[in-house]
Amino acid sequence: MSDKIVFQKSVGFHEALKSRVQAYFVEKNLHSRGNWQMYLKTSLIFLWVLASYTALVFFADSWWSALPLTLSLAIAISAVGFNVQHDGAHQAFSESKSINWLMAFTLDLIGASNVLWRQKHNILHHTYTNINGVDEDVFDGSLFRLTPDQPLRKLHRFQHFYTYALYAFLSLKWMFFDDYKKLIDVKRGKDEHFAISARDIALLIATKSFHLSYSIILPLFFHPLWIVLVVNLVFHFVLGFTLSVTFQMAHAVGDVHFPRPVTNSGVIENEWAIHQVETTANFAMGNPIVRWYAGGLNFQIEHHLFPRISHIHYKSLSPIVQKTCAEFGVHYHAYPNLLSAFLAHYRWLRQMGRPQLA
Ligand SMILES: [Zn+2]
Repeated sequence: MSDKIVFQKSVGFHEALKSRVQAYFVEKNLHSRGNWQMYLKTSLIFLWVLASYTALVFFADSWWSALPLTLSLAIAISAVGFNVQHDGAHQAFSESKSINWLMAFTLDLIGASNVLWRQKHNILHHTYTNINGVDEDVFDGSLFRLTPDQPLRKLHRFQHFYTYALYAFLSLKWMFFDDYKKLIDVKRGKDEHFAISARDIALLIATKSFHLSYSIILPLFFHPLWIVLVVNLVFHFVLGFTLSVTFQMAHAVGDVHFPRPVTNSGVIENEWAIHQVETTANFAMGNPIVRWYAGGLNFQIEHHLFPRISHIHYKSLSPIVQKTCAEFGVHYHAYPNLLSAFLAHYRWLRQMGRPQLA
C-alpha cells in the first residue's frame, strides 16, 4: 500500500525549517549528531544496565531485593532503547557509521532484531506516520482500535481498561514471536516492505541465542527455574509497558491527526513535514528527568522532522519548530506533563472504543 501513497507538494514549510535549523547549528558552531553529553549519558546508562543485571543475577537472594533490581533493569534497558539504540538506528548518534551501527545493534543484544525494527520504524513509521495499514506502529486494529479507520469490534468498548495489560506483553511478543514471524513472512515473500540478508539472519540467530543465554541459562546456575521465569516475566511486563506507553503518548492521542489518503490517488493532503507535525505530540518538554530518560521521545515532533539529528539537541530546536509552525498555521501540540499525556492516551482509547464519544 505504501507505494501508492504520495504527499502533497511542498508549501515551503520543510524548506524554511531546514534552513533555520541549519542556521542554528552554524551560529552555535555545533554538530547535529551526538556530543560529549550524549557519550556521558550512554556510559551512565550502560553502567546502570550492568550494575542492575550483576546485582540481580549474582547477589539478589530474596524477593524484596530481586523485585527492585528487576524493575531497575527493565527501566535501564528501556533507556538504552530510547536514548542509544534509537539515535544509532537513525544515524544520529555519531558522525561515524560504524558507531551508529554498534549503537543500533544494542537492540539485538537486548533480544530484538534491529534490522527488522529499523525497516518498520525508520521507513514505515517515520514516513507514513499514523496512516492505517502502513504504519505498523498503529497496530492492526484487531485487539485495539487506535485510529478511526480501523473497524470497531465489540471488545473495543473495554479497550481503555485491558489495553494497558496487553502493553505489558509487547516485548515478550516482539522478542519471542514477532521477529520470527516477520522473518518467515519476509523469506516467503509475503511482506514486500521488508528485506533481510543471509548475514542478518545469521546475526539474528546468534544474538537471540546470546539473549537467551544471559537472561535464562546463566541465571539458572544461581537460582531455581521458577524464580528465573518469574523474574523474566516481571522484567518484560515493565519493559513492554514502558516502551508502549511512551510511544503511544506521542501518536495515539486525540490531539493529533490520523490522515487518510484520498481514495484512488493515494494523496495525503499535506506536505510530508506538516503531516509529521500534525500526527505527533510532544509531552513534558520542561521536565529535565523525562527529557533525560525518554531520549527525545517526548520531543517526538522534532524527532519526526529531524530524525538524523541527535535527541540531545531537540530542546534547543523546539522554539524554532514552534515559531515556524505558527507562521505556517501548522498545529503543534504538546502536553504539559506526563500525566496529561497519559490521560490523553486513555481518553483516546475510550473514544475509539465507543465512537459515540467522538
Ligand atoms: Zn524514530
